Amino acid sequence: MALLQLKDIGKIYVSEGNVAVGIRGVNLSFEQGEFVAVTGKSGSGKSTLLNVISGMDTYEEGELYIEGESTSHYLQPDWEVYREKYISFIFQDYNIIESFTVLQNVELALMHIEDRAARRARAKELLERVGMTSHLSHKGSRLSGGQKQRTVIARALAKDSPIILADEPTGNLDSVTSHEIIQLLREVSKDKLVIVVTHNFDSVKDAATRHIRIFDGAVESDKIVRRAELPCHKNTDTCAQKYSKGRKKDTKNGAALGWAIFAAKPKLSIFLCALMLVGILGVFLVTALCGEMTSPLRGRGMFSPIPGRVVITTQSGRPLTDEELQGLRDTHGATSYLHYDMLLDHGTVGGQVEIPEHLRENPYDRYKTLGLELTYNEDYGDRIVGRYPTAPNEVLLRLPISHRPLFGKDTLQIQSIQLTNMGIDYQIVGISYFYDNNQPFKCLLTAEGFRVVSAQFAVSNYMKSQFITASVLPGEGATEPKEIGFDGFCVSFELPPDRIALDSSSKYRNAIQKAAEATGSYTVRGLMRWNAIRYNYYYVADEESVKLTWEFGNDIICEDATYAIQASNHVYMGSELYCDVIETTLAASYRQASLFFEDDSAAHRAADALTAEGYVAVPADTVGQLDGEDVILGVLQAVLLGVVWLIAIVFLAFFLNLCSIRALEAFRGDMAIMRSMGIPVRVIRIGMYVRMLLSLIPGFLCMAAVAVVIFTSPRFNPYFVFLYPWQYALIVVGILLLSLRITHNQIRKLFHPSVKKALKGGVTQ
Ligand code: ADP
Ligand code: MG
Repeated sequence: MALLQLKDIGKIYVSEGNVAVGIRGVNLSFEQGEFVAVTGKSGSGKSTLLNVISGMDTYEEGELYIEGESTSHYLQPDWEVYREKYISFIFQDYNIIESFTVLQNVELALMHIEDRAARRARAKELLERVGMTSHLSHKGSRLSGGQKQRTVIARALAKDSPIILADEPTGNLDSVTSHEIIQLLREVSKDKLVIVVTHNFDSVKDAATRHIRIFDGAVESDKIVRRAELPCHKNTDTCAQKYSKGRKKDTKNGAALGWAIFAAKPKLSIFLCALMLVGILGVFLVTALCGEMTSPLRGRGMFSPIPGRVVITTQSGRPLTDEELQGLRDTHGATSYLHYDMLLDHGTVGGQVEIPEHLRENPYDRYKTLGLELTYNEDYGDRIVGRYPTAPNEVLLRLPISHRPLFGKDTLQIQSIQLTNMGIDYQIVGISYFYDNNQPFKCLLTAEGFRVVSAQFAVSNYMKSQFITASVLPGEGATEPKEIGFDGFCVSFELPPDRIALDSSSKYRNAIQKAAEATGSYTVRGLMRWNAIRYNYYYVADEESVKLTWEFGNDIICEDATYAIQASNHVYMGSELYCDVIETTLAASYRQASLFFEDDSAAHRAADALTAEGYVAVPADTVGQLDGEDVILGVLQAVLLGVVWLIAIVFLAFFLNLCSIRALEAFRGDMAIMRSMGIPVRVIRIGMYVRMLLSLIPGFLCMAAVAVVIFTSPRFNPYFVFLYPWQYALIVVGILLLSLRITHNQIRKLFHPSVKKALKGGVTQ
């Protein structure tokens, strides 16, 4: 079986209406070990013959057999594989990859050698044989014609393919060099089929085993000039079988190729990286500037979904009692309960701090108001400034990093905060800063402090009117029942927790004293007990003070009244007493409570059990609802977000495309050369993908760096929306997919035209 057989091959060129015969009726058969010289006049069809044999151009008539296999049904990809398996081509105009070094050019053809060191050694060995040892690291563009030709011969030999085709390899060389090169070709290719086209038979006379003359596209003569030294076949593998045995490392070779083409054109690569960087940063900044990617349609829950929380009430509307809740806690294994839990579902409370003069940006900025979520059992680790609260009037604020300049980095610059409008200071004992500026501002209290604020909150939100309009219910023996009302109760942390102080005008002093004397004790019934005290509405700082202390138990014992507090219309109490009073009042009307369990699943189980017992029990995480306004706002936000994202994506696609067009132009020629060398398509493909990925890396790194800077800097943090890891992942994956898609198109364009056309279009001659 002949290695290569041409049967009645014909090739016709049709261009601009003219038909030219390339070759016609060619019948030739070649064996391994032959060194064939093809001669003929210019335009006789020698190059056409080689192009057809190499699969770089198609043929219209006849049939070409390779190791007995017919090729007439081959499509472009089949020809790529054909070249890869069988062909090394030496061009008259070299087709060296100009941006690669001499060594790289040769190594490119040595992909079948897996070990890098062995590959390098082999390349050096081949380059030594063509006399290029002194130019190993010169770029292709800096070589003379003879040097280029030697390099591509070394490259052709490196590939170790069974067929070497050379189209006037010595056409551009002087006669001495020509002779050397032909000898070299002969020496190193004794077991191969070599077909050399030349217009000068003398230059190959010494090496040739066969001489074919072409005239006017047809074979004019075909003579054996010397016996071919046929290689002794030790094994019976065909070339194709040998080839498929050696093929494994496409991915690795592709990656190496990607890096090589990336590094070979540093200016272009830097340009690409810069463009990518602009694109990636653009997307990132647009995303971080223009809003949350967290679902804007997420329902605002009716109940704050604190992990493990169950909200409970009675079916009849009967208020729950503390004893009952304690019982439920114990029987259902709850970790704790909160009877008056209105603050949990209130959202935020307005906290106000007074800004010390030296920290004010504007001399008139006395206060700063913060919307705070109050909590009482959270742990922020030990990365806090100051400490955790331990007393009921102590708080730890959890604020975004943007507040650090005002509140302090290592020491607290602001000492107190007011959480309600009752004029009560809470001491800030610690601050914890966070970077995620989507998170709510928080105020962490002790459990007792949380109880106090809840009571304050109840007074100002639920019970105020009740206090003002409360009518007098005289205690037993009270002589002067009068209508009175309260404006509010304040807690004073300076008083002993179980003590009370109130201010009043002298107008009522006597009445109070009288009442105290007359009764000695009052029966307490809810808040109404306070109604026994005449209480004024006026500011009485100039009045003489009277001391009055109430002890609180089952009865009130009036001993001594203190009109010590300047502010009018307020009753000041120690925190315990305060909570007792408010909660006692609330107890009659507040119907809800919260039980806390280990986690949400425990909460769900307990809720079922409680429901079975006849309570209304709801795990807080199951209840979410959207009202109309929320839905409209949410949809608007989502649409806006979509538009912003779309713009970002179009912007990015534009940039990536720009890069890819630029890159395509720069690589078209090199890719064509690689194809003509028969480098596996998969390797080139992977190389292109890797090159694209490499150009993305600086962009991604820069994005990470910018993200760290803007989110950790108090100065920039507030202007951007903090992005979560999954959002970064989304950006990265999106950009990767987009680039892979663009590279895919680019590759398709590269492989579409035949090698001959691609070579013509891309390589500067
Ligand atoms: P040689 O290599 O022997 O000088 P070629 O094989 O290049 O000759 O050309 C053979 C014939 O085919 C010539 O008549 C040439 O004009 C024609 N030919 C070669 N390539 C093309 C082409 N791409 N388009 C049209 N005609 C072509
Ligand atoms: Mg030619």
